[in-house]
Amino acid sequence: MKRTLVLAVTIAALLPALALAQRTAVSGDFPAYNNHGRPDLTIDPKRFESQMEIVDRLFQQGDCELVEGSVGGAGYRRLLRFDTVVMNMGDGDLVVGDPTDPSNPYARWFEFSPCHRHYHIRGFSNYQLLKLDRSIAAQGHKQAFCLEDLLKYSNNDSHGYTCRSQGISSGWGDWYFKQLSGQWIDITGVPEGDYIVHNEINAAGTFAEGANRYPNVLEVRIHVPDPRNKVTIDTSPLNYDH
Ligand SMILES: [Zn+2]
Repeated sequence: MKRTLVLAVTIAALLPALALAQRTAVSGDFPAYNNHGRPDLTIDPKRFESQMEIVDRLFQQGDCELVEGSVGGAGYRRLLRFDTVVMNMGDGDLVVGDPTDPSNPYARWFEFSPCHRHYHIRGFSNYQLLKLDRSIAAQGHKQAFCLEDLLKYSNNDSHGYTCRSQGISSGWGDWYFKQLSGQWIDITGVPEGDYIVHNEINAAGTFAEGANRYPNVLEVRIHVPDPRNKVTIDTSPLNYDH
């Protein structure tokens, strides 16, 4: 089990170099369709499930994660972390634009992230650990996103969206990988048992998605170990670039 986790981390560390590789395996399940020029956002289920892991990580007073509230306090925290790839499989781009432009129609949705040091769309995702009766066992902080093209899911060309001019081209995906600061749920002290990991995107309904054929919510079952049991201690550098 431990070896598998280490292997997964090693592979994931190599993957950013391959970010432009086409994700054909998943895109077949979500073909782009005529959504009358609108985006349709959904989560890559394979990456969400395959990259999920539980690690312990040390946080110090003054770390931006405490300022931003992505962990509940200083000291060792137990983190359930995973990749969220937001795929746009509608036939229209998601166009968000420049966060510093006061006339941007989404201006009120931008917030500056103290950890990432750039602007994110507020309330874009909602990460929760649910008990099997669907009550909340642990609430992730509302991870905000800067939306950009990172993974290709179709034959379409990217229109070059970045954190400075945000959006996701039709047929592309924005990849929030698990090594990013805040890309987790703090599950410190959660008792051993079976739970549901709930991942919702466009959670505040900020962006119109037309027919919205593909789901905005993805859930997987996991088993959380006894909090007294050791898990991998993660000391790798956190990423703040995205
Ligand atoms: Zn960011």
